[in-house]
Amino acid sequence: MKKNENISHVVDKHLCTGCGTCAGICPVNAIEMVEWQGELLRPEIEGTLCIDCGLCLKVCPGIHVQRTKVGLGDPFVGEISAAYAGQITDTNLLAAAQSGGVVTGLLLYALEIGYIDAALVTSQDVNGSVRPVVKLADTPDEIISAQQSKYCPVALNSFLPMVRNSNKRIAVVGLPCHMHGLWNVGKEFPDFLKNVVMRIGLFCDRMLTYGAIDSLIRSAGLQEHNIAEFRYRSKKWRGWPGDVYIKNNRGEEINLPREIRYVIKEDFTPVRCRLCYDKLNTFADISVGDSYGLSESVEGISSIIIRNENIHKLILNARESSRIRLQDVDPYRIVCGQAIEERRKQFTLFSSAWERMGYVSPKYNLNYNYTKVRETIDLSSYENVLRSALSSHDKKIAKDEYQDADNEPCVKTKDSANGNRKFPLVTVYMPIGSDNRFIKNSIESVLRQTYQNLELIIAGDESNKKVKRLLKNIKSEKIRYVEKKSTGIHNFHSFISDHAGGDYVTLLDAQDEYDKSKIEIEVALMLGYPKLDAVYSNLNVIDDNSKGVAIVWPYNNHMPEDLKLKLSRSGNGNIPLYSIMMRKRLACDLPIHNMTSLTLDNRCISKLFANRKIKHVYIPLYRYRCTSIEGRNVSKRP
Ligand SMILES: Cc1cc2nc3c(=O)[nH]c(=O)nc-3n(C[C@H](O)[C@H](O)[C@H](O)COP(=O)(O)OP(=O)(O)OC[C@H]3O[C@@H](n4cnc5c(N)ncnc54)[C@H](O)[C@@H]3O)c2cc1C
Ligand code: SF4
Ligand code: SF4
Ligand code: SF4
Repeated sequence: MKKNENISHVVDKHLCTGCGTCAGICPVNAIEMVEWQGELLRPEIEGTLCIDCGLCLKVCPGIHVQRTKVGLGDPFVGEISAAYAGQITDTNLLAAAQSGGVVTGLLLYALEIGYIDAALVTSQDVNGSVRPVVKLADTPDEIISAQQSKYCPVALNSFLPMVRNSNKRIAVVGLPCHMHGLWNVGKEFPDFLKNVVMRIGLFCDRMLTYGAIDSLIRSAGLQEHNIAEFRYRSKKWRGWPGDVYIKNNRGEEINLPREIRYVIKEDFTPVRCRLCYDKLNTFADISVGDSYGLSESVEGISSIIIRNENIHKLILNARESSRIRLQDVDPYRIVCGQAIEERRKQFTLFSSAWERMGYVSPKYNLNYNYTKVRETIDLSSYENVLRSALSSHDKKIAKDEYQDADNEPCVKTKDSANGNRKFPLVTVYMPIGSDNRFIKNSIESVLRQTYQNLELIIAGDESNKKVKRLLKNIKSEKIRYVEKKSTGIHNFHSFISDHAGGDYVTLLDAQDEYDKSKIEIEVALMLGYPKLDAVYSNLNVIDDNSKGVAIVWPYNNHMPEDLKLKLSRSGNGNIPLYSIMMRKRLACDLPIHNMTSLTLDNRCISKLFANRKIKHVYIPLYRYRCTSIEGRNVSKRP
C-alpha cells in the first residue's frame, strides 16, 4: 500500500515555494510543476507513476533545510569573506541590468575564460506568455537575455536532471529557496550537483504571485495577449530602482510608476515568503542584491557578499580584466541596508502567528535562539495578513471573472483587446464655497496631472463671480463650470449622476491640491483590481505656500478587514473622503444625502463604505491645505 510520503503534504500545508526541486529529483518523472489558480507554481503528482519512494519529500526545502555546518555565525547573515559594491563595465548591459549587472557580468566573464560552460538562468522572453522561462544558457546572448529580476515563482530546480546530464561546468543563479533545495539535494545525492561549479544567489525579500503580473498588465490598461515585453523594474524611464515597463504588440512603451508596484506588493505576497528567514542567500557562493544602504545611484549598483574563496578569486580576476568594477565595502552596511534586523523580527512574528493559527512552520534547524513570542503579544494583524494570503491562494479565480467584474463598461475607453490601451475618463468634482484664495493652485494641480483623460467639474453658485472670471482666463477644455443653488457635499451623488461623464469619480476641495501622479496611480489600481470599488490615499498637509508640513493618516498597507477593524476601534483614523477615487456607480449610490451631519469622521466614512472593497494607498497623493496650524491641530474641517 502506498504511504503517500510525498510532497502533496507540503502543498497542503502551504509551504511550497514552487522551487521545482521535487520535480528535478523524482526518479520516475511523476511530478509536473503547474500554475495553480493563476497565482502560484505547485507540483502535481501523476499518481499512476509515483513509486512512493519519498525522495521528493526528503529534498523539499519548503518544509525543511538542514542548516548544519553552514554559517556558524548569525544565520540571517551567513558567512562573509568579503563584500563589495560592483557594476558591470559595459554601459549597455548596465542600463539593461536589474541593479549593477554583476550577475550577468560574472557569468559572461566565467564563460569567456572557460570557468563555466553554461549557466542555469531565468528569462522572461514573452512569447505568448509573460511567465518566466528557465534555460541552460551556453552563449553570451542567452545569458544576456536573462538579465533582470523576475519577482515571481520560478521552478529553477526542476532542471536539475539537465544539469546532471550535461557534462558541462555549470553556474546556477537562484533565490535562497532554490539554494536551499540544492543544499538538500547535495546532502542526499551529491552526484546531481557534480557539474555545479558556482552558485550565484540573489538576495530575496519575497516573490509575488503571478497575480501581480496580471494585475500590473491590467493597470496598464492592457491584456496579456497584447504584451510583447514585461519588466517588473526597468531603468528606462527614471533609472534605478526602476519602474514597471510594458511594451504592447503595437510597439508602444508603457512605464507604470514604481509606486504602483510598491502598493500592490503586500496583496500578492505568498504565505511561504512570510515564513522565510534567508534574505541574504546564505547558502550561495556569492550573494548579490540591490545597493540599498550603499548607494542611490540611478545607474544601478550591486551589493556583493562573497562566501567562497574560489569565486572571490574569479570576481577579482573579472575586475583585473575590466569586466566588472568593484569597491570594497563594510559588509554590515549591506546587512543594515537590507534591514536584516527587521527581517528577523518579521520572520519571528509571522512564524509565531502561523503556528498560533494551527499550522506548521518550515524546519530550518537554525542555530539562532529565537523563542516564540509571548502568548500575551497580540499577533492578530499578522494572522490577518496570513489569512488574507491564504484566501487568495485558495480561491479559484477564473479569467473571465476578472473581465466581467467591471460591469460598468468603460464607455470612454478604446478597445484594449486590440492592443490599444484602456484610458478610463476620470471626473474630478470640485465644489466651491466662499473662500477661494487657493482655487488657482487647486485647478492647476488637476491640469498638470500625469494622467490626462480627465474632466474637472467645478460646482459653484451665483455668488462665485470671481471664480467665473478666473476660469475665463484659464481656458482649458477639460474644465466645466456648473452653477447650482446648493453645491455642498450633500448633493454630491445627484450632482455626479447628472453631470459626471467619467468612469471614475474623485473629489477636490477648492483649497487643496493633488499630487501630480495621483490620478495615474489611482486609475492604475482601479484597473489592476477590477473588483475594487474605491481607493484612497494618505494626505500630505500643506501650508499657504503649498509646502508640505506633515503627513496624516499614515496607516500602513492593511487589508480591508483590518481597516474596518481599525475604523471601529480607533477614534482618530479617518478615511479622508476627499482623497477617495471611486467608480461612478458607487458615487451615485452613496447615501451622503442621508447623513445628518457630514463630518469626515470614522462612523460616517465607514458607513458609506461598509461592504465595499476599498484599497488604501499609503503614499500621500492628496495635498490637504491647512491654513492655520496651531500646535498639533492640523484640521481645517469640523
Ligand atoms: C524574487 C526576487 C526578490 C529579490 N529581493 C531583493 C531584495 O529584497 N533586496 C535586494 O537587494 N535584492 C533583491 N533581489 C535581487 C535584485 O533584484 C537583483 O536580482 C540583484 O541585485 C542582481 O542584479 P544584477 O543587476 O546583478 O542582475 P542581472 O545582471 O540583471 O541578472 C539577473 C539574474 O537573475 C536571475 N533571475 C532573475 N529572476 C530570477 C528568479 N526569480 N529566480 C532565479 N533567478 C532569477 C536571471 O537568471 C539573471 O541571471 C531580488 C530578486 C528576485 C528575483
Ligand atoms: S520541492 Fe519545491 S516545488 Fe517541490 S514541494 Fe517542495 S517547495 Fe514545492
Ligand atoms: S516517485 Fe518518489 S519522488 Fe516521485 S513523486 Fe513519488 S514519492 Fe515523490
Ligand atoms: S522569500 Fe524565501 S521562499 Fe519566498 S521567494 Fe524568496 S527565498 Fe523563496
